[in-house]
Amino acid sequence: MRSDLPGRSPMAMPGTDDPDTPICPLCNALNSQWWVRRKQRDYWRCPNCQLVFVGRNHYLSLTAEKAEYDKHQNDVEDVGYQRFLSRARQAVFDRVPVGSTGLDFGCGPGPALAGMLEEAGYSVSLYDVFYYPDTLALTRCYRFICMTEVIEHLASPAEVLSGLWQQLKAGGWLVVQTQRVRDREAFARWRYLDDPTHIAFYSEATFAWLAEYLGAVTWEVADRDVVVLKKGGFG
Ligand SMILES: [Zn+2]
Repeated sequence: MRSDLPGRSPMAMPGTDDPDTPICPLCNALNSQWWVRRKQRDYWRCPNCQLVFVGRNHYLSLTAEKAEYDKHQNDVEDVGYQRFLSRARQAVFDRVPVGSTGLDFGCGPGPALAGMLEEAGYSVSLYDVFYYPDTLALTRCYRFICMTEVIEHLASPAEVLSGLWQQLKAGGWLVVQTQRVRDREAFARWRYLDDPTHIAFYSEATFAWLAEYLGAVTWEVADRDVVVLKKGGFG
């Protein structure tokens, strides 16, 4: 009985017959369950892919979303920011030969990670829907694709991730940096939720689902907030 869900009758249980239950944006399941309410936002959890997400009524407009990003522009020279990005950089270093080409998808206004990788001998293309809308970069193929603090912003993650997966060469790596969901108690007081542009939250189970969905030959947690997925074949 979910009488703890504000504004709802306890009789209105979620499920396929409940029009108020949002569709899972990752796997399209219809039977997500209400999980947490925090600061005026309801969070739902998909029983199929375990994604935790907010309904579309909480999505910002594109203008409001960009205004949020403009507020906290990361300084390329900032040491703390570089330390944060070094975890994604290391995930690339450990797996991809120097000299390979990659894509920094959702690089933001100051593409610091690309700079760090270029310094090490990689060649990195940039794409960001707001700051580097170079759609040509989405037509080429790469040995690696990085998404640092991007996946939690995606309204249509299956579509975006499938597209990126097609851009990976055989044997290539998708490097995803995002903080992961642990349990409900930790989730309910998680500062990660305070950013209104964060709309979807991934756990290890969600990445396991994603690896299977994309057809990854392997995936692993590379660091505390970095997951890598490998495309099959020889490249
Ligand atoms: Zn799902």
